Amino acid sequence: MNDNPCTQIRHDFPIFEVSVDDQPLCYLDSAATTQKPNQVIQAVKDFYQSQNANVHRGLHTLSEQATTAYEAVRRKLAQFLNVQSREIVWTSGATASLNLIAYGLSDSLKKDDVILLSPLEHHANIVPWQLAAKRTGARIELLPVDAQGILQLEQAKALIENLKPKVMSICHASNALGNINDVAALIASSKSSGTVTVIDGAQSLLHLRPDLQQLDCDFYVFSAHKALGPTGLGGLYGRYELLNALPVYQSGGEMIDTVSFSGTTFRPAPEKFEPGTPNIAGVIGFGAALDYLAAQDHDALFQHEQSLYQSLLQQLSGIDGIRIWGDTANNVGTVSFNYKNEHHYDLATLLNTHGIAVRSGHHCTQPLMAHLGIEGTIRASLAFYNNQQDISRFIAALKDTISLLE
Ligand code: PLP
Repeated sequence: MNDNPCTQIRHDFPIFEVSVDDQPLCYLDSAATTQKPNQVIQAVKDFYQSQNANVHRGLHTLSEQATTAYEAVRRKLAQFLNVQSREIVWTSGATASLNLIAYGLSDSLKKDDVILLSPLEHHANIVPWQLAAKRTGARIELLPVDAQGILQLEQAKALIENLKPKVMSICHASNALGNINDVAALIASSKSSGTVTVIDGAQSLLHLRPDLQQLDCDFYVFSAHKALGPTGLGGLYGRYELLNALPVYQSGGEMIDTVSFSGTTFRPAPEKFEPGTPNIAGVIGFGAALDYLAAQDHDALFQHEQSLYQSLLQQLSGIDGIRIWGDTANNVGTVSFNYKNEHHYDLATLLNTHGIAVRSGHHCTQPLMAHLGIEGTIRASLAFYNNQQDISRFIAALKDTISLLE
């Protein structure tokens, strides 16, 4: 894909018409959140303007319309992921999804059971498991990752066979480094031990569009806002028998069958995990994001992202003193780097004066940073709406920044 189709796509994203500090925006922070196409913004506006009503509660026309539109998105997402719609639970994001799963699986964990994570995980895929371990006496073990931040697959498979973990929860792609982990191979290795497999798909839904039946995981979590959708929405897939067997996490209206002071009964999944009024506008906006993605040639977008990534890597590697982390051969298009001993915060602050939006810091992966022996990095993360001009502007701004620091 050359830059022409990208130019078309860029027109769908109104943020690129906005100036930031009098400069055109150069947005390289899509791992934090993606920009939204007009279609998503319009769908949210249309909902509030002409459809707004609560779902699942009213017999009146607007409520029925809202319910139909809301439930249609569950089916759309299920189709996108190649699973059943009753296996999709809406939450407020990947963080909420991981908390729900870790809390729910605690019921089946006991002392000395192994919860297997990796040093690459976002805090959202560490802390809920630490709490689960504390509640149950289970222990956390880590998959091997080398000094560059790359998962060591063969050793990891051997470790899985050896430890026979009760749960393995790992990211499909690292938010800090962009590495794509071979989660299919890890899941396959864990099958003979009956391990419950949880995939943190926050960074993979958009870039990799996984087929979850093919992946064969038990749970998969995501955030809508990292895949063109609105903020405050995410969800999870759970293999139905496992999902339905999880205990209730949060309770209230809508998730119950009957309530009385002598006892309350719950609806089956997914409803039992969706108490209260959901993020209806968010779901409807996310439906528009899924339609948008379905209308694009995914392979072409992926190739475009990858060629931008290669160009970014190549130009960055040509700058003396740059240290790039992670697996550059298997990556969703995120470059994490340091420049000599300069503080990542100073670089990002100076880059911002050029209108460049990058992330700096530990990226909610403090254990990974400790493993790499650093405090943080500068992270430039791409999405298909980026173009070569973004890369050129970033490199020019970085060179300028470096010359100021020398
Ligand atoms: N997991 C990964 C890999 C992430 O990148 C993020 C967010 O950056 C999360 C989990 C948490 O997502 P959210 O903040 O949308 O709940």
